[in-house]
Amino acid sequence: MIEIDTILLKVASQCNINCGYCYVYNMGDDSWVDMPNFISQDTIKAVSKELEELRKKQQRPFAIVLHGGEPLLLGTRRLETLLHSLRTAIAEEYCISIQTNGILISDKILDLYSKFKTSISVSLDGHEITHNANRVGHQGEGTFHHVLKGIEKLKSHPDAALLYLPVYLLLSIQTQIHMTSTISLKKLIHKT
Ligand code: SF4
Repeated sequence: MIEIDTILLKVASQCNINCGYCYVYNMGDDSWVDMPNFISQDTIKAVSKELEELRKKQQRPFAIVLHGGEPLLLGTRRLETLLHSLRTAIAEEYCISIQTNGILISDKILDLYSKFKTSISVSLDGHEITHNANRVGHQGEGTFHHVLKGIEKLKSHPDAALLYLPVYLLLSIQTQIHMTSTISLKKLIHKT
């Protein structure tokens, strides 16, 4: 049996920003147009059932990454339903993470992540000029400072110490294709 390492689960088809290089919205893939805005209750139930089955069949834990579009557009109520269902299907040693642009991070959402031991990966393209060259809003405005505000919220959450632990890593800054220097990014984040 081939073992599965990571499952990418698309939970939202829309995004609150419009990155120039986005393969979903700006590279000719229009499949999202006919998709529902959010993962449905029926799909959540079906996916959770399949994950439970996989957990029983496969010895090695696998990871689940919630993806979009922008997964935080689900809002707290839908996210709670989704995370509760996933965590009921798989134990806490299975990594669940969310890939987000970071703009919609709120205290309520962080509380949910903490409750369901879910990690967060924030997309940041490096320094302000580099980031704002592509990661822009629907009016073309840069999003750098909005993303940093989201990261500040992460850092000030009561569970921040837990969030930085390698096992339940709730903040991992994932620089994408335009990152110029890992060291300078670390300095940048520690300044916020
Ligand atoms: S945040 Fe992600 S999904 Fe949204 S426009 Fe940018 S690359 Fe696309």
